[in-house]
Amino acid sequence: MPLRSALFSQRWLVLTLIALLGAGFLATSLLSYYASRASIRDSIVNTELPLTSDTIYSEIQKDLVRPVLISSMMSRDTFLREWVVEGERDPAQVTRYLKEVMTHYGAFTAFFISNNSLTYYQAKGVLKKIRADEPRDAWYFRVRDMTTPYEINVDVDMANQDSLTFFINYKVYDYQDNFIGVAGVGLTVDAVIKLIDTYQQRYQRSVYFVDTNGHLVLTGAEGGPQGAHSGQSLSELESMKDLLAKLPKPHSGSYEYSAQGQGHFLNVRFIPELNWYLFVDKREDSALHGIRQSLYLNLLICLVVTLIVLLLLNRVIRRFQGRIEAQATLDSLTGLPNRRGFDLLAAQALHEAQREPKPLTALLLDLDHFKRLNDTYGHLAGDLVLAGFARDLESCLRQSDIVCRWGGEEFIVLLKDTDTTNGLKIAEKIRQRIEQQHYPYEGQSLQITVSIGLTTLQSGDTLHSLLARADHAMYRAKQTGRNRTCSQMPHSSYE
Ligand code: GH3
Ligand code: MG
Ligand code: MG
Repeated sequence: MPLRSALFSQRWLVLTLIALLGAGFLATSLLSYYASRASIRDSIVNTELPLTSDTIYSEIQKDLVRPVLISSMMSRDTFLREWVVEGERDPAQVTRYLKEVMTHYGAFTAFFISNNSLTYYQAKGVLKKIRADEPRDAWYFRVRDMTTPYEINVDVDMANQDSLTFFINYKVYDYQDNFIGVAGVGLTVDAVIKLIDTYQQRYQRSVYFVDTNGHLVLTGAEGGPQGAHSGQSLSELESMKDLLAKLPKPHSGSYEYSAQGQGHFLNVRFIPELNWYLFVDKREDSALHGIRQSLYLNLLICLVVTLIVLLLLNRVIRRFQGRIEAQATLDSLTGLPNRRGFDLLAAQALHEAQREPKPLTALLLDLDHFKRLNDTYGHLAGDLVLAGFARDLESCLRQSDIVCRWGGEEFIVLLKDTDTTNGLKIAEKIRQRIEQQHYPYEGQSLQITVSIGLTTLQSGDTLHSLLARADHAMYRAKQTGRNRTCSQMPHSSYE
């Protein structure tokens, strides 16, 4: 295969390997990311959020069931009913009663509203008269007219600095089943708000309550979704519009939606005691932050590994390439440059010599009767003599001279900065050294001689014309008896 196309296919191999490695790393990283993401989503939707919702629900139940029981007891209390039937004569009696209920059961407030006198009694005494035209008293008339025995209402408590309170409003009847008023206890929602805040901070999820009309009723201290406050309708929030349309009836269930480019997981649960929905919402971003980080780290590691592999491969290829190039320009038997290597070096040497200008002498060397040596001692012996000859030839030259195995048993030398006289001296030195040299082979001592053709570079010479003259000179050396140096100039020749 030609050198160029071999290198080209190596580049392709490297690129293919890098592509495969990169694609493989990318695929495994992304696969594991998507698998973790799916399992995190699954655990958020099916476990985490329902669990939060369960805990908040049971906390609310715990807070609400006891007051409902207390209020129920108050509605059946014989003292209270008889005191009303007997004309509400001593308010101190009912006040004491309410105070007893409040302190004994640890309620935030305890109250009774008489239907007859429309008086609001509580633990501290008579609070006020209820009026049908007073909006803050509307709740009483709603309870009076409702068919169920009690309701749970979240409202501000006028008796306690208007703090937000769960009221259990229980209807009270006399012994003839006539409605005589509303009794009950109230408890602060602070505990529930604190619980919501704890969950929001610890698990980075939003927790809030929504009534059946889609209004926010209870949020943590920092408000509901996108900072919405209690009383606001969810339909006012742009991000919730689509979601509300999607919510089936009943609304309980798990949902995914996006708001402001952020994915959200939402768990909705209906709380029958409050007639409210509990929303537990978690942002996808915060949940997936960890695995996204590990994906980036993964990709970074893959990139580094790929780069290291690329660098290593590149280095191996370069070394390989260098070796191939060297091999392509060197003769394997003698280690001297071959024709390809020589052409590059000679072109440059000729160019320099003609530009300076400086003398340059070319020698063409051909071993004498080499065929005979081969025929007599075998090819291996011939090879050994060729290698030995190359070594000896080099030993007669300077580092700057150019030498090459032209082919077979022919060699070329370019002597830089050397005129004919000095060239002839060097050629003779070579010829004599070879003549005297013995090459041991299988216990025998082989000898060889060399014929040398010499010429000197003239202006207007090409490598071809220079070598053609050297070849002529060498031919004459052969013709005139071998083992000698002949020189040839453009229009003259010397022996
Ligand atoms: P002359 O003195 O006229 O140059 O005679 P010669 O035998 O050297 O000339 P010829 O060109 O007839 O023969 C050259 C021989 O060199 C023939 C060839 O087999 C041999 N030869 C060429 N390359 C190699 C080689 O790499 N190894 C060996 N052992 N022999 C080689
Ligand atoms: Mg020859
Ligand atoms: Mg020969």
